[in-house]
Amino acid sequence: MTLSDLLSGKALPLISDLIVLVILSLMLVMSIRLWQDRRKRAYRSLTVSICIVMAHYGLQLYFHLAEPASGAATYWTSVLKIVSFLLVNMGVYQLYNPTLPRHRVLFVFFLALTFAVSLLHVFVPHWFAGTEAQERLLQDIGLELYLFVLIFLGFYLISPFIGQTGKYQAALTVYFTGHIAHVLNQYVFGGEQTALGLLEHVLPIAFYFLLFMLLFDRVVELMHAIYSTSITDGLTRLYNRKFFDKRVTQYVQRGYPVAVMFSDIDNFKKLNDTKGHHVGDEVLKQVADILRQESEECGVAGRYGGEEMVVLVTDPAVNIAEFAEHVRRRVESETTVTVSLGCCKIRRGMTAEELIRRADEAMYKAKTSGKNKVVSYG
Ligand code: GH3
Ligand code: MG
Ligand code: MG
Repeated sequence: MTLSDLLSGKALPLISDLIVLVILSLMLVMSIRLWQDRRKRAYRSLTVSICIVMAHYGLQLYFHLAEPASGAATYWTSVLKIVSFLLVNMGVYQLYNPTLPRHRVLFVFFLALTFAVSLLHVFVPHWFAGTEAQERLLQDIGLELYLFVLIFLGFYLISPFIGQTGKYQAALTVYFTGHIAHVLNQYVFGGEQTALGLLEHVLPIAFYFLLFMLLFDRVVELMHAIYSTSITDGLTRLYNRKFFDKRVTQYVQRGYPVAVMFSDIDNFKKLNDTKGHHVGDEVLKQVADILRQESEECGVAGRYGGEEMVVLVTDPAVNIAEFAEHVRRRVESETTVTVSLGCCKIRRGMTAEELIRRADEAMYKAKTSGKNKVVSYG
């Protein structure tokens, strides 16, 4: 068999369906994992959707093998194609959004509309007196056109609400082009155009590949979010104490010339008692933002305890005492509170724990000697 036999012959739809089935199985595995890990209904329905789409491609494969293709086979292939399209798009939407009752109503509505439009298959032969071949073509034209409407609805109703708009729009464009090729080939060229046939069968592979990439990236995004939650503090979004300690230990063990700044808000309890906890929380966030901005390019900031925050400065060009003084001034001028700061530069033989403790002790000295100041260890 030559390549041109393969591309123009009966094997192409079979190969295309098989490749799509392989991509769908990979998507199924990912979606089952998501469902097992997170137990969200959205992932369960995504799993069910992918199973149904796989059943569609399995059936289509069977119809391609059945000789000759019957009217019923063409009809069911068209109906299932639309149901699959509805299901995968609903699945993509659910990856990024909670499913509300109105979404389910919309989905059932389009499903019902699919079956209503598909009834043309039964009525066309009664309404239209033509040759058998013409009737057969016209029977499913309603479904073919209806699919165009659904593709456009995907652009308007789904793409603005998901996280990977570009990839999803590319997938829809590919699907649209594939469908145009299919409709032109069937209705204009009687299925005889090799190039259109090629597009019609290759583009669905590209469509499902893009959806696979979309799902894959979503899984990576979710994993990243889980990791990020495990190492950061929920209120300030600074690194948590465990992560911060680990970072300091890593740097100290490698012998880098690091320094630590320890910060504690002055009279914070009073602010909480007089203005309320929510105001206290806001101030905490403001101070955390200043620390994050200042440390972004020279180290990492963490929340060590209640209103105690820390910065590990890893850039040897930064003078830690000047850095701390800059932070103190910013907090004083940009927020309603002040901070007492202690800092310590690493010395030979010092452990990570000792480094942080010395910075904490220096901060304590700043507290006991008047607050709103910087004290350096040693
Ligand atoms: P000092 O100047 O000596 O540091 O006085 P202070 O009142 O800040 O000292 P202390 O460390 O005793 O008080 C810390 C207070 O921080 C106690 C607690 O109510 C408050 N706090 C701790 N975590 C949070 C938080 O997440 N949100 C809010 N709003 N308050 C917190
Ligand atoms: Mg404190
Ligand atoms: Mg305090």
